[in-house]
Amino acid sequence: MTYVYRFGGGVSDGGKGDRNLLGGKGANLAEMASIGLPVPPGFTISTDFCAVYYDEGGQFPQGLRDEVATGIAHIEGVTGKRFGNAADPLLVSVRSGARASMPGMMDTVLNLGLNDQTVEGLATTSGDARFAWDSYRRFIQMYSDVVLELDHDAFEEALEIAKEDRGYFLDTDLTADDLRTLVAEYKALVEKQWGKPFPQDVHDQLWGAVGAVFGSWQSERAKVYRRLNDIPASWGTAVNIQAMVFGNMGDTSATGVAFTRDPAKGDRAYYGEFLINAQGEDVVAGIRTPQYLTTAAREAAGAKPLSMEEAMPVVFAELAKVFDLLETHYRDMQDIEFTVQQGKLWMLQTRSGKRTAKAALKIAVDMAEEGLITREEAVQRIDPAALDQLLHPTLDPKAPRDVLTKGLPASPGAASGQAVFDSDTAEKRANAGDSVILIRTETSPEDIHGMHAARGILTARGGMTSHAAVVARGMGRPCVSGAGSISIDAKAGVMKVGDRTIREGDLVTIDGTTGEVMAGEVPTVQPELSGDFAALMVWADGVRRLKVRANAETPLDAKVAREFGAEGIGLCRTEHMFFDAQRITDVRQMILAEDEAGRRTALDKLLPAQRSDFVQLFEVMAGLPVTIRLLDPPLHEFLPHQEAEFAEVARSAGIDIDVLKRRAAELHEFNPMLGHRGCRLGVTYPEIYEMQARAIFEAAIEVAVKSGAAPIPEVMIPLVGTARELELMKAVVDKAAEAVFADKGQRIEYLVGTMIELPRACLMAGEIAEIGEFFSFGTNDLTQTTLGVSRDDAARFLTTYVERGIYARDPFVSLDVEGVGQLIGMAAERGRAARPGIKLGICGEHGGDPASIAFCEATGLDYVSASPYRVPIARLAAAQAAL
Ligand code: ADP
Ligand code: MG
Ligand code: MG
Repeated sequence: MTYVYRFGGGVSDGGKGDRNLLGGKGANLAEMASIGLPVPPGFTISTDFCAVYYDEGGQFPQGLRDEVATGIAHIEGVTGKRFGNAADPLLVSVRSGARASMPGMMDTVLNLGLNDQTVEGLATTSGDARFAWDSYRRFIQMYSDVVLELDHDAFEEALEIAKEDRGYFLDTDLTADDLRTLVAEYKALVEKQWGKPFPQDVHDQLWGAVGAVFGSWQSERAKVYRRLNDIPASWGTAVNIQAMVFGNMGDTSATGVAFTRDPAKGDRAYYGEFLINAQGEDVVAGIRTPQYLTTAAREAAGAKPLSMEEAMPVVFAELAKVFDLLETHYRDMQDIEFTVQQGKLWMLQTRSGKRTAKAALKIAVDMAEEGLITREEAVQRIDPAALDQLLHPTLDPKAPRDVLTKGLPASPGAASGQAVFDSDTAEKRANAGDSVILIRTETSPEDIHGMHAARGILTARGGMTSHAAVVARGMGRPCVSGAGSISIDAKAGVMKVGDRTIREGDLVTIDGTTGEVMAGEVPTVQPELSGDFAALMVWADGVRRLKVRANAETPLDAKVAREFGAEGIGLCRTEHMFFDAQRITDVRQMILAEDEAGRRTALDKLLPAQRSDFVQLFEVMAGLPVTIRLLDPPLHEFLPHQEAEFAEVARSAGIDIDVLKRRAAELHEFNPMLGHRGCRLGVTYPEIYEMQARAIFEAAIEVAVKSGAAPIPEVMIPLVGTARELELMKAVVDKAAEAVFADKGQRIEYLVGTMIELPRACLMAGEIAEIGEFFSFGTNDLTQTTLGVSRDDAARFLTTYVERGIYARDPFVSLDVEGVGQLIGMAAERGRAARPGIKLGICGEHGGDPASIAFCEATGLDYVSASPYRVPIARLAAAQAAL
């Protein structure tokens, strides 16, 4: 067969190695079946067909129809039931399953194969008419929603009215006869909305559902999820068709979801929820509050309803054995779906469980120590970007808290922001620069964009495996779920907790580690970087070749960077030192001076300030290399704007205010990014670079004398395009160095090099390397100048560019390896040919991006430089790149 792969009943056409072809769900169902676990029989239509489906304009060729018939025959053979048979019908589920798990993105239909005849057969064979009619009513509801795309609320409403009319409270109060009546109402609803009767032919039902799954691959919410998670549209989804098992056949039946370890903290304890007498999605949807799997978890939460361990001890023991077997088999923490039908356990899904960064670290380190995986594997298991979650502050335990209520600790970390009650508003406010907390009764896939925009998520309903919890953990957003004592009126924009009212825009804080919800903003503290984090970083450092430095200019940033393991500074942007309230006046005086003498007067005032900056920086980085970039930005960035600022400069410099204003007007540029900036400033006003070089060397000698550990200054000339520019500027720096050395009677080691950030510099790298002693690739500007895209103006079109597949990712976030990467590779090669062993590094945003770091490793650069908080991410990414 070309597209159909069977599983169950002793057959497995595929296995866990086939996830590209069968999707994660299909591959793992086949794998579980092949290792002897109880999996309801079924088959998978491969992802290859997804492309064919779109090529054929949503038609199914005869070949596929024949293969599917064979697949159905396989299920019939194993179960002994026949699809569409009125006496003893086979029912199936139709489930999507892509290569990467996309929680809630694609739609599943359960109980397919029921119609007016087969429902009677199901009632007879099961001996439970209520169960049969409940299954039929669920099927019509799901099918109408997912496949026919009818208004889903009308069905909910009919169900609510049916209960109200009879004075019932729970769905389970409805009798067989009530449900029979409800089914008739549902069918009338379908006919009214769809214009045709509900499909009674089971094969029509099946093909409708299969088409809906393939169709949902191109749904808006699937596209959004793919964009947020870098999943290519070309992968496609598979479709799984599988015999139904029923968790809704009374009190010996149940359905549940479980993790083999705690996905929030990583502890080695089974973790999960189940519901007695329920089907499929009831647990995830948060319709009833689920019960705990283990007694320990139930007791820890102080909950009353029996755990599965207590309510169904025999099946629980069997399940626990399956957990251990799956974990050893897959060598990773598993996320599992199961159903118990009248005391018999069935496995419906397993996959590597999503987990928080904290849990990922603990699980990787524990598994390496248990001998289940190697240390190298542990290093490879951690997504470097996810470390971000751990490196940021948590709530200050000493700060006062105005606790409103407590929910479930669904995704750890703390966040404060304005209360917002719908996802569109969350996105709008976040785009306007506000921090928001998204507060919903429960979330659904339509909320993805709001959850992404929010700092944290709070829900009134739903458990630890609810949509909100799973998605928040995946995104690294703090989340408190199931805070039952809050009531939300989204339309009015208010939430009530006891006698307290929170309105849209009010500040709230959530702590996803404890479940606390607080009014106002609570101050935060830095996290401890010990334990599992430290252990894993030691293993990572053991395999890494690339050095990791930080971009930092203040002593505080430098200190944070060193604590995070930076091995020097890769970029110190000296202009950042100029914005200080006192200094800015002197800087302005320098810029507005009409001649060299005027500039020198101002520079003399700046020299001591600049020197003391470098002293502090060198002290923090004692013994390590520090790359200092001389003044780079266009001068007008420092110009005064307000009258008072002009007056201040005029007074301090003793210059007429009108002269200053005229000079400021002269400095206007049409395209400052390509204007009078970078080394062009040094070429026209060498006294600026001379002052900066002097400050660097005086500071370096001061620290060398004081602490004995001389820093190694690497003086970097920005925006060089020709060897001659660098030659001129190097002469200025060398001359300043010699003057200082003569003055102090002491020499220190230093390098003069350049930032490579123009395409011409890449082309001329050979000549430039004859003068420059190091290259640092300034990939922000190199990306701008190579792509001809201004970063500050790119927001308007780049999203569309990424959506349309013009660039795979934002080239300012992740290096355009294809294009800009070629220039870097060429410059590195030409640079090395001219000066063997020339030091090569990268600074700019890309230095902290794992994919770009992999490129740097492959190109053989010596180091990457990232912002202080990204240093650990870069260390881990560099280790993974080396493995
Ligand atoms: P998702 O990818 O959204 O989790 P699934 O295909 O796993 O969707 O199905 C949704 C729910 O239906 C799950 O709880 C699953 O266990 C349940 N389910 C799917 N197929 C069957 C089946 N054949 N018998 C019983 N329950 C099923
Ligand atoms: Mg599932
Ligand atoms: Mg630059």
